[in-house]
Amino acid sequence: MTHTVLIPTPLRPFTGQQDAVEVEGGTVAEALAALTDRYTDLRRHLYGEDGQLRHFVNVYVNDDDIRYLQREATALNAGDTISIVPSVAGGAAASEAPAPELTNAEVQRYSRHLILPEVGPDGQRRLKGARVLCVGAGGLGSPAALYLAAAGIGTLGIVDFDVVDASNLQRQILHGTPDVGRSKLQSARERLNELNPEVNVETHEVALSSSNALGILKDYDIILDGTDNFATRYLVNDACVLLGKPNAYGSIFRFEGQASVFATQGGPCYRCLYPEPPPPGLVPSCAEGGVLGVLPGVIGTIQATETIKLVLNAKSTLVGRLLLYDAWKMSFRELKLRRNPECPVCGNSPTVRELIDYDQFCGVAPGSAAAPAAAPAVPETTVEDLRARLDSGSIFLLDVREPQEFQICRIPASTLIPLGQLGTRIHEVPSDGREIVVHCKAGGRSAKAVKLLEDNGIPAKNLQGGILAWIDRIDPTLPKY
Ligand SMILES: [Zn+2]
Repeated sequence: MTHTVLIPTPLRPFTGQQDAVEVEGGTVAEALAALTDRYTDLRRHLYGEDGQLRHFVNVYVNDDDIRYLQREATALNAGDTISIVPSVAGGAAASEAPAPELTNAEVQRYSRHLILPEVGPDGQRRLKGARVLCVGAGGLGSPAALYLAAAGIGTLGIVDFDVVDASNLQRQILHGTPDVGRSKLQSARERLNELNPEVNVETHEVALSSSNALGILKDYDIILDGTDNFATRYLVNDACVLLGKPNAYGSIFRFEGQASVFATQGGPCYRCLYPEPPPPGLVPSCAEGGVLGVLPGVIGTIQATETIKLVLNAKSTLVGRLLLYDAWKMSFRELKLRRNPECPVCGNSPTVRELIDYDQFCGVAPGSAAAPAAAPAVPETTVEDLRARLDSGSIFLLDVREPQEFQICRIPASTLIPLGQLGTRIHEVPSDGREIVVHCKAGGRSAKAVKLLEDNGIPAKNLQGGILAWIDRIDPTLPKY
């Protein structure tokens, strides 16, 4: 009765580098005896001096752990597969399912990997067997997904529900000019399969939420966090901790980026680093604060690098280290990170044992995860009303955006005082009886400005939808940003 014993990478030096060995035997004990009779050096790695299987060696018959069968007395049927699974320091990230074989075309495609001792054919087969999920097909997800696909990650999942916008193309290199207006997932799938048709791209066209995150993440080995808002970032972190999936983390802002690896066994998580999100509106999003286009290229590529290393069981990953990159200074720094025993999700007595309401946790209005907290309720006016009355001279139009935004486009006869300066320049707002209308890009900052003016005894109205609404409905010749 012939069976196949699958040999894990660390034990292959004792089997002449063979990853599978055919043996005879009616029970697990007989099959393993046949194996160690043939490869005598293997014996001391599998058995202790007492002749018992070592505790860190797990033996499976097909899918079942023999500890839950009849242990070494477990009877074998012809053609059974026996897997030897030793525990590996640092925790194996990828599933321990037998890695798939490479085709001749794949050997050629990945030849520069195959000749690296750290990758080699076994590593490449692990990459082929790996399942990685990119949360987001935007700035970070673009370079990450491209490099992971090129590297031969067998299954690449992507979560996104957005449509490609012209303003994405400055950094989201998965998408091209003809893709503007298309689903990011469709565009991503086409581009990735063009790059590497061997990769199975799985698309999840949903907004990741507490109700669907565990169901989506559970089928992947490693999660790559390419989110652009705090609510989803905490959601991804907590889901990774609860599921025991490593999280290749990256974030970007203007010229600065961060990267680390969270939620490995014994390693820190995002909440160990940042137990609480910043108050809404304190940290602007990329849409408000801007971002150097190449920055997510660097950080997303670091996330892809760490993901590949996790699949390859590399020791020196970013686990326990926070990498900080400043593109403007061109400097890299790193900080030590430790798991916080008090961490609410990965600590010794976790209080978060299931996914929570992350919009509420981050103080974000439901349904607008990327937007700052709801703007204060203030008197408003419409762009049509403004258009009708602007020429009469009865309105003072105050623009509270930043000077560089004012340079891009402006509504005629507006006066610029950035929101951050309004408090100290409030005397520049006239009190000559003209009605004061305040606008910004989309209405959020101007609502705060109206509130500030009201608090100083100056009545004012907010322009609904900001200059974007003006461009849409009054003057489409102005550029949008
Ligand atoms: Zn933690």
